Amino acid sequence: MDEVREVSYNYLSLVNSNGACPIVGLKMKKITKFIIAKRIIILSIVGGAIYATMYYFNINIGYLVLFGIGTGVIFGKVFCRWMCPIGFLMEMIMGGSKQFSSMYQYHKMGCPIAWASGLLNKWSIFRIKINKDTCISCGKCDKECYLSTIEPAKYSLYKPTKQNSGDAYSCSKCLKCVVACPNGSLKYKI
Ligand code: SF4
Ligand code: SF4
Repeated sequence: MDEVREVSYNYLSLVNSNGACPIVGLKMKKITKFIIAKRIIILSIVGGAIYATMYYFNINIGYLVLFGIGTGVIFGKVFCRWMCPIGFLMEMIMGGSKQFSSMYQYHKMGCPIAWASGLLNKWSIFRIKINKDTCISCGKCDKECYLSTIEPAKYSLYKPTKQNSGDAYSCSKCLKCVVACPNGSLKYKI
């Protein structure tokens, strides 16, 4: 669990950096990019640690559900793509093939953590937020987001007339949108 907290802490502190110093800001952006690029490795480590802990200490699955929902209250739907052992297996099985990648979402249909934390995306303490004063409407965030790519008429991260992709049920906090923003107008923060 310490590993989970440490990863979350490091991750959030990086994403929340306002980059006041250009050198520090650039470094932070590089590190954040690196962490997001290595998400699947982090998922395998954290998911493996969670599975091993549950197996070793014979922990009831109900506690894992409570933990997953708790992370939803604070961070939104982070559990699926950053912590879930089953999510990792599904990504391994389905993610490698274009033919099956679209089926990834189906394994979540019976998962209470996915349901609860997805619905909590709208109200979680940490959320993806835009600074409208600095946004230059370049659209790079939307191009990186699978939600606004699949349903451009419905979702956007910067167009005020559309639903915020980051608040949508299906946003699993991959944070590719945050990294794609060229001037830090998009942040994952309180
Ligand atoms: S984190 Fe950003 S890019 Fe990823 S699904 Fe959510 S809104 Fe889209
Ligand atoms: S990538 Fe950043 S600057 Fe460009 S539209 Fe999105 S939020 Fe605005």
